[in-house]
Amino acid sequence: MSQQSVGILGGGQLGSLLCLAAKKLNIKTIVYCDDQDAPAQIYTDEFIFGNYKDKIKLQEFIDKVDVVTYEFENIPFETIDLISQYKQVKPKPEINKIVQHRLYEKDFINKCNIRTTRYVSIKEKTDLNANVKLVPAILKTCKLGYDGKGQYRVNSVNDLEKLNIDFSQDYILEKIINLKKEFSIILTRFGHAVHDIYDPIENEHENQILKYSKIPATIDEKIISKAKDWASIIADDLDYIGTICVEYFIDKNDNLYVNEIAPRVHNSGHLTINAYNISQFENHLRAVCGLEKVELKKLYNAKMINLIGDEIVTYRSKKYSDNEFFFDYGKKEIKPNRKMGHLTIIQK
Ligand code: ADP
Ligand code: MG
Repeated sequence: MSQQSVGILGGGQLGSLLCLAAKKLNIKTIVYCDDQDAPAQIYTDEFIFGNYKDKIKLQEFIDKVDVVTYEFENIPFETIDLISQYKQVKPKPEINKIVQHRLYEKDFINKCNIRTTRYVSIKEKTDLNANVKLVPAILKTCKLGYDGKGQYRVNSVNDLEKLNIDFSQDYILEKIINLKKEFSIILTRFGHAVHDIYDPIENEHENQILKYSKIPATIDEKIISKAKDWASIIADDLDYIGTICVEYFIDKNDNLYVNEIAPRVHNSGHLTINAYNISQFENHLRAVCGLEKVELKKLYNAKMINLIGDEIVTYRSKKYSDNEFFFDYGKKEIKPNRKMGHLTIIQK
């Protein structure tokens, strides 16, 4: 068989790490991104810079690839839907439509009989006034939010009244959970009844941005088992192909909730690169490209630190031991709250 070409929509750090994994598998990568400075262009075999609505550029991309996937869920649905008329897109476009919209996503999870925090749809100011019972709560834009962007904490009814919100967008208001722990389950699904689940990853956020991840997670076995079941139900229900991440909350009374679903490889899974025989990135490509599923083996316990904003500067000049793996995303500009790189430390 000739070399497979996988098209990747989005050229950030997740796209870069997918390209690196593709090299190991001898798969050719073509990244399409609307950012001229996209970091993944250093790692991909071919880079196409174009707007996600530019049909001519997209056609050029479509002609070069065998299968298409994406590094983040905020690619317009119309773009992946258009591509899917010519080439297979995995995971399939309908999944993206659900998961890129917080209200549809939470409705879907509840339809699977899986618990989320309480939430309501907010379309106008009067909806806020009618839902003061949810306070303390977080107001989130339904679309395009990440790393806490588009989120407003509402600690009191007073805060709710002071909110100055642009109602040309849709929102959801979510009850705040008194958090004991956050963790994620990363699963790669190859097809009906065929999937791999990584060990749960315990996550710590600072300013709503992931800061630390580690395995093993110190979480009760019963909760872990329920979380794995829920992740499998979600992936099966979506008929998902590839790597998916389900983010969980545990409250102070040990109740488990799904926070959100990422239909893609995930930041908390960076440690799988060094801690497993097959990383979440390699597994995603194996599933998307129809390659063989290899049995997962955890090699080491590990932790990962996200390097945010100007923290990257000191890490660039550090000396590392052979159990430390530093990755610099090569982003042109350092900005506060921007993920610039990460460090994984494995325990040998
Ligand atoms: P993003 O898409 O930006 O990752 P999330 O909904 O996952 O958005 O929120 C980011 C972080 O904010 C969560 O990981 C958690 O730490 C905190 N958070 C979000 N929603 C809630 C909630 N309902 N209760 C408690 N903490 C929350
Ligand atoms: Mg999140």
